[in-house]
Amino acid sequence: MAKSIIFEGIDGSGKSTLTKLVKQYLEERGKTVLALREPGGTPYYEAIREHVHFQTYQRPVISDVLTCAGGIAANIALTKTALLDDTWVISDRSFYSNAVYQIARGFDAEVLNSINALATEGFAYDFKFLIDLPVLVAQGRLAEIGKKKDRYEALGKEYFEEVRQLYLDIAKKEGFIILDGQQPVSEIIKAVTSQLGL
Ligand code: ADP
Repeated sequence: MAKSIIFEGIDGSGKSTLTKLVKQYLEERGKTVLALREPGGTPYYEAIREHVHFQTYQRPVISDVLTCAGGIAANIALTKTALLDDTWVISDRSFYSNAVYQIARGFDAEVLNSINALATEGFAYDFKFLIDLPVLVAQGRLAEIGKKKDRYEALGKEYFEEVRQLYLDIAKKEGFIILDGQQPVSEIIKAVTSQLGL
């Protein structure tokens, strides 16, 4: 039976690297895989991503929260359909990122969680991984590859320290498996695939 997997973590923690490798791992075992990301993954939600991450029109945080809630609802609907069709779903971030990044900008956690609950209709992923590592290590990696910064990535070290802590709090509460992001990719991938039972 197909399962759903998410990778969460600060920018530069290795989420997209692991998403690609786990997708490949599953496909090598004959599984069909739908890869998504948050925000994004479909033309609809990619258009929202472009707006939320790069457009600087003046707007309150709730505008981004509600805009993303529309994309989250669409991705959850897609995820449920895929699972019923025996397609594995793997997502580079999920609605948890939406929560963490907006709460770190001062948005009320309880309101955010209610909006996410509405958008996801209580959907729960099968495997939730948090890649944890120090902010400076992650930022060093991003600087090394010269990644173009979006509105969030430009917010600086203190913001990302808060994001890292919020991720750790959510991970504890929601039963995430926490991965050491400073390990070599080859070790992290083993820790992930050993959980999948294939
Ligand atoms: P994210 O999607 O979380 O922003 P990426 O997967 O794009 O992170 O990785 C950011 C950079 O860090 C890339 O250059 C990638 O090759 C490198 N990287 C990813 N995981 C590791 C790791 N475990 N150790 C060292 N470098 C890594």
